[in-house]
Amino acid sequence: MAHRHITGRLVIATHNPGKLAEMRGLLAPYGIDVTSAGELKLNEPDETGMTFRDNARIKALAAAKATGLAAFADDSGLAVDALASEPGIYSARWAGPDKNFGRAMDEVEIRLRWRGATTPERRRAHFISALCVAWPDGHVEEFEGRVDGALVWPPRGHQGFGYDPMFLPDGHARTFGEMSSEEKHGLPPRGKGLSHRARAFRQLAEACLER
Ligand code: IMP
Repeated sequence: MAHRHITGRLVIATHNPGKLAEMRGLLAPYGIDVTSAGELKLNEPDETGMTFRDNARIKALAAAKATGLAAFADDSGLAVDALASEPGIYSARWAGPDKNFGRAMDEVEIRLRWRGATTPERRRAHFISALCVAWPDGHVEEFEGRVDGALVWPPRGHQGFGYDPMFLPDGHARTFGEMSSEEKHGLPPRGKGLSHRARAFRQLAEACLER
């Protein structure tokens, strides 16, 4: 089935300046004029979905309908095999209102220990990124990227954000917390498109963007 292309102006459905900056950077080579839900003072819808994909769609459709423009949203998180895929869609929530990811990582580690998950094979995890572009007529284009790895303890590195310091991607000796942003998210030719978000974005670019 043919994918619908993004042309003209695109609303990024986020109130997070970090995510907005990252998306602006990714979209810059395609000449897309980007604005954001934060800049347009749109209300944030409740993320009532049960999956990353549902939540990305809820955010993108709400912004598209409110503005009459194409809108982009993402939802992402960490899924730990031994914890029945927790924290999953609650990844941000585990850090509490003060966004303390030291505490969120402690929480993951405590639960892994309760389950005796001390070897790398029992500490498998992946990050997921669900991306959705929605149009005011209700059409959506959806993409999902995933990166697999194992969780280390203690956390290593001070780069990145969230659970990065405890995530060791497969085939690498350094955690996401020890990698530069270019190394983690960078797309070819400069980067390897390693992260879940980079992998999802590559699919989106191939389907919906023209250079
Ligand atoms: P969202 O803003 O609802 O997508 O929440 C995503 C949450 O998942 C973040 O607050 C982080 O805790 C976690 N997360 C998602 N992507 C990453 C990543 O690349 N590194 C570390 N943590 C991540």
